[in-house]
Amino acid sequence: MMLIPHACLNAAGGRLMKKPLAAFAAGVAGHALLDLTPHKDISAHKAEGLGVLIILGLVGSSCGWSSPAFWCAMGGVLPDVEQVLPWTDPKRGRHRWFPTHTPPLHSLAPPWAPRWRAPLLLQTAVSLAALGAAVAWCKK
Ligand SMILES: [Zn+2]
Repeated sequence: MMLIPHACLNAAGGRLMKKPLAAFAAGVAGHALLDLTPHKDISAHKAEGLGVLIILGLVGSSCGWSSPAFWCAMGGVLPDVEQVLPWTDPKRGRHRWFPTHTPPLHSLAPPWAPRWRAPLLLQTAVSLAALGAAVAWCKK
């Protein structure tokens, strides 16, 4: 999954939670769930990384740095750090640890439309809506 939807959707999900630590754990689980959904990926790590830093900054500064929204977003972003680490790079013969980062569990094909993948534009639109919901009326 693109990194930006992980951050935005998890931030919105975190709004439904009370405790930052539980929100973080739910965020990691939410990462796995989103990885399972059929989706297209981009490999623009630097642009995505920068975008995610801005999103995390926005969520943290509007909802609070110890808010469930912020920590749920962090939990959603963290598993993807291994996508850019050299010692978990499959091209170098290493393997990835997070269960949804290897083929059988990554981006499942829907049985009724085996070739469908959520397009980038849809992912971006959903992300923006989720980010709006995450930071709207968010009080520190
Ligand atoms: Zn992932």
